[in-house]
Amino acid sequence: MGRSSKDKRDIYYRLAKEEGWRARSAFKLLQLDEEFNLFKGVSRAVDLCAAPGSWSQVLSRKLRGKDKSEDVKIVAVDLQAMAPLPGVTQIQGDITKISTAQEIIRHFEGQSADLVVCDGAPDVTGLHDVDEYIQAQLLLAALNITTHVLKPGGNFVAKIFRGKDVTLLYSQLKIFFSSVTCAKPRSSRNSSIEAFVVCQNYSPPEGYVPNMSNPLLDHSYDVDFNQLEGPNRIIVPFLACGDLSAFDSDRTYPLQLDSSKEYQYLPPTQPPIRPPYQQACQLRKNNLLAKEDSPSGALDDSLSALDL
Ligand code: SAM
Repeated sequence: MGRSSKDKRDIYYRLAKEEGWRARSAFKLLQLDEEFNLFKGVSRAVDLCAAPGSWSQVLSRKLRGKDKSEDVKIVAVDLQAMAPLPGVTQIQGDITKISTAQEIIRHFEGQSADLVVCDGAPDVTGLHDVDEYIQAQLLLAALNITTHVLKPGGNFVAKIFRGKDVTLLYSQLKIFFSSVTCAKPRSSRNSSIEAFVVCQNYSPPEGYVPNMSNPLLDHSYDVDFNQLEGPNRIIVPFLACGDLSAFDSDRTYPLQLDSSKEYQYLPPTQPPIRPPYQQACQLRKNNLLAKEDSPSGALDDSLSALDL
């Protein structure tokens, strides 16, 4: 792929570089905020699965404002290291671990967060059922850690794959939040099953004790969640968000959007420091990928499914 072909294919990838965002995902959070006003009154925020850091950049710019308020505390957690960002404390850790929750709370000096966001994605395999299952695990891990750190009334936003068991996830979220909406920002490709759950007004059941257990890992569950009916089945509203006149992430735009300016290739603002897919990229560059052994196009799909 030539240096400019992704620029041509993906308008948000190109805009991200022009505006200095580390990844195109920044636009997803910005468009979610446009719709839900997520940042209003937030002074303590947690970015789960944050690397390479475009959501943390959005939080840093939006919450700290022009005067770079020191009262705002932002914690970013990821398994991977990421380059530093102003006003953001990094924890290189695993969101499934209680020790990570404790570290976040320590940073907030015992106070709770107003907002938790999670754009977490596992290394995708290209096998859709497996990817959906692992994504669901990650979302539940994010919910668990959120129950340790979020204040009552606070909000939680997380990436979700709208796969066949999504109803179970909605049911889990509805136990903890009075409002759950599934939102699809314009910058998230229609061709991708990715969407975001916007969970508002954290209100855990009375007597709930935060823990790290995960019902999807409990194999005594043997229910087809799509067969659930009545109050056992939760249908949450689905909302397409972002200005409808905004760029369509599935369309290809000409490289020269502004005919008065010449197109200029820009390198990525801050590539990941040590991405887990580095070896795969290297192999692909040297045409060394053993394609016959992988399910058709699975690795290519997987790399682009990162949708950064
Ligand atoms: N929101 C980020 C941004 O805007 O730059 C992009 C996040 S990227 C799509 C997904 C991230 O999830 C990866 O950096 C990966 O390391 C992280 N991740 C996956 N599983 C994790 C876990 N158990 N704990 C912490 N981070 C995890």
